[in-house]
Amino acid sequence: MMKLLKHNGMLLLVMIGILSLGFIGQKAPFARFWAGFSHIRWNEGRLLSYLPEAHRWKYIVIHHSATERGNAKIFDRGHRLRGFQQGLGYHFVIDNGTYGTRVGQIESGDRWYRQMEGAHCNRMGMNEEGIGICLVGNFSKGQVDPAQLESAAWLVENLQKRYGIPTSHVLRHNDVKKKETECPGKDFPWEAFLTMLP
Ligand SMILES: [Zn+2]
Repeated sequence: MMKLLKHNGMLLLVMIGILSLGFIGQKAPFARFWAGFSHIRWNEGRLLSYLPEAHRWKYIVIHHSATERGNAKIFDRGHRLRGFQQGLGYHFVIDNGTYGTRVGQIESGDRWYRQMEGAHCNRMGMNEEGIGICLVGNFSKGQVDPAQLESAAWLVENLQKRYGIPTSHVLRHNDVKKKETECPGKDFPWEAFLTMLP
């Protein structure tokens, strides 16, 4: 028995050796491989059970992706390529049905799961105190899907309730950085959105 274990142990070591050799010099692709799994698609029940105790969140900042297509995984990769080492700069992404997503699907990345600061609005402490939510789409050119808007409102309302964030602290990106960005797009139905909040 001992002999068999010893033999298998050696075999395992050799296999690990071969596998590690394969990854030497390929740190980046390996990191990207894991990055691809760093987003989570939430259903409503699961999301509500993962709103951790936190005192830092005082604002919610709404963005659009300014792209017609996308999902959390794609933006995560893009943000890593731009040098955001913690990946996806937003805490949540609301999908628009492209890249195999469901319209209104809520996704998030490491920054929400690990309760880290965002990389979505570097003004007035919004990355530190603001939950960043991105709706996929370009709302300077097109309309928000009603199901996507409803999903965003559902998420925002639940975050407001959980963290005691008043509607006056739910902002558009361009409420914070007025002249520098149109985000979340000049056609974003902001007034209608506010009426959907508590
Ligand atoms: Zn933005």
